[in-house]
Amino acid sequence: MKALQYVTVGAEPEVREIPTPEPGPGEVLLKVTAAGVCHSDDFVMSMPLEMFGFDLPLTLGHEGAGTVAAVGEGVRGLELGTSAVVYGPWGCGTCWFCAQGMENYCSRAGELRIFPPGLGAPGAIAEYLIVDSPRHLVPIGDLDPVQTVPLTDAGLTPYHAIKRSLGKLRPGSWAVVIGSGGLGHVAIQLLRQLSSARVVALDVNDEKLEFAKSVGAHEAVLSNAQAPDNVRKITGAAGASLVLDFVGYQPTIDIAMGVAGIDSDVTIVGVGDGKSAARVGFGVSPYEAAVTSPYWGARSELIELIDLAHEGAFDIAVERFDLDNAPEAYRRLAANTLRGRAVIVP
Ligand code: NAD
Ligand code: ZN
Ligand code: ZN
Repeated sequence: MKALQYVTVGAEPEVREIPTPEPGPGEVLLKVTAAGVCHSDDFVMSMPLEMFGFDLPLTLGHEGAGTVAAVGEGVRGLELGTSAVVYGPWGCGTCWFCAQGMENYCSRAGELRIFPPGLGAPGAIAEYLIVDSPRHLVPIGDLDPVQTVPLTDAGLTPYHAIKRSLGKLRPGSWAVVIGSGGLGHVAIQLLRQLSSARVVALDVNDEKLEFAKSVGAHEAVLSNAQAPDNVRKITGAAGASLVLDFVGYQPTIDIAMGVAGIDSDVTIVGVGDGKSAARVGFGVSPYEAAVTSPYWGARSELIELIDLAHEGAFDIAVERFDLDNAPEAYRRLAANTLRGRAVIVP
């Protein structure tokens, strides 16, 4: 089968011919119908050799959808042909976090060397994908896999981040979304669906700001040195109740802290350069502001998102690429010229 693989640290990923995998006991083989391209892949591929923690070659893609092509020994209750999306942050299934459905915070994944597909385990940007357990599949019925696959990360991560702060999004409050790309454009839609807060989006050019407004932002502001003042002109002195930073570099974290209000949540989702940080403490951050950096989301939350998708809640912006053209999707991601999510359709 064909797969997009990261082969050499520092080089572009390559489309290669590799053996089609067979499902082992308890596993499921999916024929991939769609796979999303996430900025985190770019982060992983920017790591120098001494920091790179996965075996190479690595098949990319941690957002996956497919139809069940075969099941391994012992797998019951899953019909061949079922169309499903993949819950990516695989865990052990039995620790306390996993028992809550929060496999993203599995306390044993490190010790057991369990990795998400595309981030250690072979990923979804291929013709076939092995899923380690039927528990990691959410059936999607007649939803279009291409439109739905971004929900597995670009949807799930902001959904988890917003849900935990819903209590702060009272009528009249403001939420600020920094970076309206793959994750950010879904975050704006989720904020509008789940809360009565008003939304200010920040991004780096007018085209991106227009895009943010087209998916539901009430206001859009250029992300620059004047941004904190410009956002505060909109929110008033109270500032924002929730700031979601989908970039995570020092300049955006500084903007986030600059627009956050008293008792707000500042949620840093973007991984930036992996080194940036918020300054927190008396006199430097708003009183009682809580700063957090969540990772992905819970299995139950992906089920909820798919239910929302069945209600027609989302207008996911997708740019399609075929598998042979997948390296171009990564070039466009790096050049920041995508509108929404790039999805590979094998
Ligand atoms: P993306 O490239 O699709 O979107 C990023 C957006 O941020 C773009 O619209 C870009 O124009 C904008 N941007 C860039 N610099 C900016 C700045 N200085 N100010 C304002 N906007 C700016 O990326 P994505 O796939 O949506 O991922 C976003 C971030 O979230 C990445 O850092 C990714 O690694 C991270 N991520 C984290 C998790 C998690 O679990 N914490 C999950 C998925 C992705
Ligand atoms: Zn991701
Ligand atoms: Zn676990």
